[in-house]
Amino acid sequence: MSHKNCVFCDIITGKIHAEKVAETPQLIVIKDTNPKAPTHLLIMPKKHIVTMADVANRDKDLAFAMFAIVEELAKNLDAPQAFNIISNNGAEAGQSVLHMHWHFISGKNIYLGDFKL
Ligand code: AMP
Repeated sequence: MSHKNCVFCDIITGKIHAEKVAETPQLIVIKDTNPKAPTHLLIMPKKHIVTMADVANRDKDLAFAMFAIVEELAKNLDAPQAFNIISNNGAEAGQSVLHMHWHFISGKNIYLGDFKL
């Protein structure tokens, strides 16, 4: 269910290279090419879903998989196991890639300084 003109779909199908950190049947996790913190990963469904508002009842396995991978990623962080999950939904909210994703950010307190995604 890949979508044309979607850079994340191209990563998922292998058309574009990305540094993959984890993969499950439902999702992949890649390193952000423009990291805003020592750890900056992107968790995204393999299915092309535009925003979190488009997640449907039939996607509940995927929704659970997103939470389960957060637990895995957090376990692998050096102490303190502190992290932020940020999701921009809609271009007006700052979403530049219109394929739903969660930014997993760690190693930086984003509330100190002028952090901007
Ligand atoms: P957002 O602006 O919330 O939609 O986030 C999109 C994120 O995707 C940005 O942080 C970009 O740096 C990142 N990004 C865009 N293209 C790629 C790519 N080819 N590989 C990895 N990360 C990317």
